[in-house]
Amino acid sequence: MEKNDPTGAEFSFRGLLTGNPDEYYMRQALLEAEKGGHADEVPIGAVIVSGGRIIARAHNLTERLNDVTAHAEMLAVTSAAQALGGKYLTGCTLYVTVEPCPMCAGALGWSQIGRIVYGASDPKRGYLRVCAGGISPLHPKTEVTYGVLEEECGDIMKDFFRNKRRKR
Ligand SMILES: [Zn+2]
Repeated sequence: MEKNDPTGAEFSFRGLLTGNPDEYYMRQALLEAEKGGHADEVPIGAVIVSGGRIIARAHNLTERLNDVTAHAEMLAVTSAAQALGGKYLTGCTLYVTVEPCPMCAGALGWSQIGRIVYGASDPKRGYLRVCAGGISPLHPKTEVTYGVLEEECGDIMKDFFRNKRRKR
């Protein structure tokens, strides 16, 4: 199913990029989400891009690691910092299929990431519900874009939970 880079190694796509870059990188995050779904993890995927290159890819691993903090964004932040050799991600963009939860938004705030792009909103568990009064866990300079491939990002979640209910 995945045609790009099955090793997960870094690659540059700049020369081939013809469409909307946000959609391209969100598709990469969706591929990660699918991988998670196949492993019976909640299908949320993330990639972090720096200088047009994907430097981190991750999907949820809470089941495999028995770790409630092993969300795609947390794993991607750690892996991107390792790739860059520095803890701050100011020049980076995170693409994640679903609105980050408050825990991940806090971690992203600490990372000072430059930009966050997410697909589907999550009114129940997303970070925006803790932003009452305009106080956000994100860094004040972080730019946020949402709704990129929103339907696909939402559908993969809906299908996953529908199948889960059916299996029970
Ligand atoms: Zn999270």
